[in-house]
Amino acid sequence: MFDRNTVISSNVLSILQNTNQPLSVKQIIENLQEISIPANKTTIYRIIKKLIDKKQISEIVINSGIKYYELTSKKHDHLICNECHAIFCIDVKNILPASKIKRLPSGKTFKMKTHQLNIYGVCESCEDTGS
Ligand SMILES: [Zn+2]
Ligand SMILES: [Zn+2]
Repeated sequence: MFDRNTVISSNVLSILQNTNQPLSVKQIIENLQEISIPANKTTIYRIIKKLIDKKQISEIVINSGIKYYELTSKKHDHLICNECHAIFCIDVKNILPASKIKRLPSGKTFKMKTHQLNIYGVCESCEDTGS
């Protein structure tokens, strides 16, 4: 049987596979429209919930309340623009000192294993228009 939801679901996955940044439901719907697969929000939310239950995609909720989705992968971090809410994937290992051992104010140490940070700021295009 030809199941419309299965078609949408596999297209949502391939859209998320072919992007290097997390997408909102609005962006996912726009991407589906581009390949002539119309879908309403309710359908997309239902499909997304299933994909999250199956741990195929993960949800990122930013301060503004916007939810973004990306394929479940190795834990990493996100840079989020306060102005346009653009979101970028990053690994803080690349911006933190190499040592995984952190010394806490108490004098004890803490060994970092995984991390999942949301770092807020201003992206390059918003900074350009702001000056
Ligand atoms: Zn921005
Ligand atoms: Zn990410």
